[in-house]
Amino acid sequence: MNPHRRSAFVILLAVIASALLPQAGLAQEEALRKKVLLIGLDGVRVDIMALVETPVIDSLAAAGFFSDEAKTRVRTVSGPGWSSMTIGARTDKHLVDSNNFEGNDYETYPDFLTRIEWERPELNTFAVSDWPPLGTTDSGGPLFSDDIDVKINFDGEADGYRYADSLSVEAAVEQLRDTDVDAAFVYLGDIDVVAHETNSRSPEYKAAIEWADTRVGLLLQALRDRPTYGEEDWLILMSTDHGRNDAGGHGGNSPSETTIFFLASGPSVEPGRTDCPPEIVDVAVTALAHMGLGPDPAWNLDGQIRGLKK
Ligand SMILES: [Zn+2]
Repeated sequence: MNPHRRSAFVILLAVIASALLPQAGLAQEEALRKKVLLIGLDGVRVDIMALVETPVIDSLAAAGFFSDEAKTRVRTVSGPGWSSMTIGARTDKHLVDSNNFEGNDYETYPDFLTRIEWERPELNTFAVSDWPPLGTTDSGGPLFSDDIDVKINFDGEADGYRYADSLSVEAAVEQLRDTDVDAAFVYLGDIDVVAHETNSRSPEYKAAIEWADTRVGLLLQALRDRPTYGEEDWLILMSTDHGRNDAGGHGGNSPSETTIFFLASGPSVEPGRTDCPPEIVDVAVTALAHMGLGPDPAWNLDGQIRGLKK
């Protein structure tokens, strides 16, 4: 057999084998090591995001499970928004209804990374943020507890959010590329601050969303650069804590404030759109489920698993 015919023959054999053994591919997929990255963008209005250039987010959405009709169903303020998203339960449980985090019940209702540490301490968790209450004792925080293996805090209030966000991304790239991290949260705050300083239709706000999209690209590249990436099943989750009104503020119940996006992407995701809009509390529950954690009914969470293959 000449070499060309031999290679054609080998390919033919491979095609037949793969047709006869569909389970082989499935088994291989199941053996991939489950990992999760939640990227949180503060204060994105979905109708404005749809107008601007976000090629990275667009490509994740096109290949994944995406809704731009998801709902907060908690007060459209950052404290309750981030708490509900990362815990998987609403304000009546975690008790955070403003940007004053005092009086919270994070002991009963921890963030998803802390929950992972409590249930499976052998897993490696990482969080980075630059809004101080998320990671420090500022304003009655932190939301993300000290049980998380690697927690890095920058200070957007002191240093400016665009600069602090870029430090957060740099730190996250190192962790996501170079360590054996299993579950991670990365927070970007600049978008929200720019809208407060201008309004929800300003060129500055649109540019801030576009800038964040490029940072998401760096985070995804860091994952692809992992030496073990081919053996891993990364679930990428993205969402925002609230929308905003035209003036750039938020806190009310208007559709532009209560509507958020929910994005899930990765080998375990069932791609497509949904007629049943997700809620903010679905984010943490989906992250936990991907990691093989319940949700245990005893945790009393409010969210549902969304976008994962059955
Ligand atoms: Zn916010």
